[in-house]
Amino acid sequence: MTDPETLSVTIVDGYVDEPAHFGVPPYISTYPRYAAGALVDAGVPRERITYHTIDRLRDQPDYWRDVDEADLLVYLGGMTVPGKYVGGTPAEPDEVRKLAWTATGTSLMGGPVKFGVGEENAGATETERQDLDFDFVAKGDVEAAVYDLVESGLEGFNNRMRDIDEVSRWAQEGAFIVDQHPNHPEYLIAELETSRGCAYRCSFCTEPLYGNPEFRPPPTVVGEVDALSDHGVKHFRIGRQADILAYGGDGEAPNPDALRQLYSGIREVAPDLETLHLDNMNPITIVEWPEQSREGIRIIAEHNTPGDTAAFGLESADPVVQAENNLNVTAEECFEAVRIVNEEAGWRPGEDPEDAPTFGDDAPRRLPKLLPGINLLHGLKGEREETYEHNRAFLQRVYDEGYMLRRINIRQVMAFDGTDMSDTGAEIANEHKQLFKRYKKQVREEIDNPMLERVAPPGTVLPDVHLEYHQDGKTFGRQLGTYPLLVGIPGERQLGETVDIAIVDHGYRSVTGVPYPLDLNAASMNELTAIPGIGDSTAGDIVVNRPYESVTDADLGTEFDLSRFVTTRPLETAD
Ligand code: SF4
Repeated sequence: MTDPETLSVTIVDGYVDEPAHFGVPPYISTYPRYAAGALVDAGVPRERITYHTIDRLRDQPDYWRDVDEADLLVYLGGMTVPGKYVGGTPAEPDEVRKLAWTATGTSLMGGPVKFGVGEENAGATETERQDLDFDFVAKGDVEAAVYDLVESGLEGFNNRMRDIDEVSRWAQEGAFIVDQHPNHPEYLIAELETSRGCAYRCSFCTEPLYGNPEFRPPPTVVGEVDALSDHGVKHFRIGRQADILAYGGDGEAPNPDALRQLYSGIREVAPDLETLHLDNMNPITIVEWPEQSREGIRIIAEHNTPGDTAAFGLESADPVVQAENNLNVTAEECFEAVRIVNEEAGWRPGEDPEDAPTFGDDAPRRLPKLLPGINLLHGLKGEREETYEHNRAFLQRVYDEGYMLRRINIRQVMAFDGTDMSDTGAEIANEHKQLFKRYKKQVREEIDNPMLERVAPPGTVLPDVHLEYHQDGKTFGRQLGTYPLLVGIPGERQLGETVDIAIVDHGYRSVTGVPYPLDLNAASMNELTAIPGIGDSTAGDIVVNRPYESVTDADLGTEFDLSRFVTTRPLETAD
């Protein structure tokens, strides 16, 4: 029998990306936090629990020693909706195998990896269940497996799901593990779970494998935020649920009172939080219960931070694909839901919510509080050439009728065992690869670009952009939050720093920005010419005629309202 008091445990985070749960840095998913809490609850001392991300093991190979020497290795990972990531690279199956081979103690693997593993982390692939050479695979909840395994003296466990009492306890007790995340404390955002499971049964989705929705009551989520906040976390996303509007209700209809308790409770225990965003919202809830939904959306917009996104899983605007895949929302219904979110939450800080949605010259230069995002999925059963046109037309209509979308996510299906798509597999996605590529490009050019300009016009200020990497003489960074905009800044600035930026130009899904406010006495030529209306010769004149006491002293030779971008700092501090 192994005494939990003497057990050493290493948790390795290979990252997760599920339909309603994200854990690639800067996000930390619930898995390592809950697993750590379950270990503590089972009697393992906190100081005997080590947590590494897969990127840290890659960057600092000495840490593999912790994998080798632990009495128990817990690997957490699995990509059921893989995408491209800036903040980290998910573990590939070969790396996961290497973890199992390196571990001399007992090894346990869990998380969405239980749903299956492809040859690589990519869309349009089929998956199969594999143990990747681990001693144990948690087929139920990994946190329950961790707890039971330690209780059994590392002999084994029954696959089971954890209950609400357990998760409430473990979520709070495991909050300390964030201290060991390489991004802690500044550049870390904690994914919060309010429920699992879904009342609907879309053909491709792994969420119904968790059953019907089960909600964590507000005090347990609020208590977890309190504990995380005590450990320095200032950024939160309520992303682990299929539909935030259904929170605390009967599984389908909204319950605005529960939402209010949740959001106001979070604000009370973490008054200094810097980000409070959400993920998924089901458009069908909005259409079927419009009044309760409007109230719920207003509550969210009142408590969240700007730039929040309610991702809608339209998946396909083609009625044939909708019918064959049991999708629950039509294009018309989704359009209605887009309209309602725009009307209730498409306002910007500093203006009257009644005016929403706002854009154009008079709108304050901040991101709207909450906008819908649209997820579209390709390769589903029944997909045909017209499907692409249906989807494109839907997006065009949203733009033409004056509404905003914060993001359009287009991807190809992965087929998982246990879902209805497993028979069809990746066949249709593969057949349509060329069509898919063409259409994606068209959407990026014709819709994404003008939409982004509407959502975040030149001059929009994005506070606290974290600088992440250099490319082509620019520095790229993002704010912490849900689907943050990628910002390119002229010049190579110090990575790891945080700057406020003002948007000057738009790509398809990214923007160009300059540090805000830009000091005319110090700005580089590249920064000056990035501002709309300032060409090479004006920028040259600005530099030559420095210093300036005020912006009006500089002859900028442009009609453009530059007060949104520039300032002059006191001369003695200018270079
Ligand atoms: S509504 Fe469909 S896609 Fe969304 S979580 Fe439920 S089953 Fe999955």
